[in-house]
Amino acid sequence: MLHAPLLPARGEGLRYCRHCQDSIAVDLFPNGKQRYVCKLHVNARARQYRQAKQEENCDWLRAETKARQDPHAVRLAREWNMCCHDRKVFDQRRIAIEKPQLAAVIAAADPLCTGFFHAVPVNPREMLSNHNVVVVVSKVRKRLLRKAGDGLFGEYDAIVTALAQKRAAAAAKSPQHT
Ligand SMILES: [Zn+2]
Repeated sequence: MLHAPLLPARGEGLRYCRHCQDSIAVDLFPNGKQRYVCKLHVNARARQYRQAKQEENCDWLRAETKARQDPHAVRLAREWNMCCHDRKVFDQRRIAIEKPQLAAVIAAADPLCTGFFHAVPVNPREMLSNHNVVVVVSKVRKRLLRKAGDGLFGEYDAIVTALAQKRAAAAAKSPQHT
């Protein structure tokens, strides 16, 4: 019990506080909505909540700092943000690829981690996903985004198809790298 329950002069205006586990004077309750928690306990709960929230924030900040020191995490965050930006150009509500998948497809195309390779959807009418993703260089991404922004999805498709053909031809020429 945080305080001695005060009884009002005429046994009326009593209310039960769940935390005091006693009936105490109504004056000891916050104004407004009728609740079964007295002022003192409301404040104690608020303090607890603030403390928990603060600790949570600290955890979050620690995680953020750690992520900022990890170049791979920084890189992934950058690519992720790009994909989230691009989806607006494609007029899509979200992206359907998970971060580990995104990291994997980009790492496969850019093993040296140059940062010049970005993920875009093969089909711009559908969400970027594990099944609808192609990695292209920055210059190509910009071209594709311009086409998509202008609603020229046919030209977008043509660029992606040409790229796929070029890659297939290159792979056929040097089968030892495939
Ligand atoms: Zn109380």
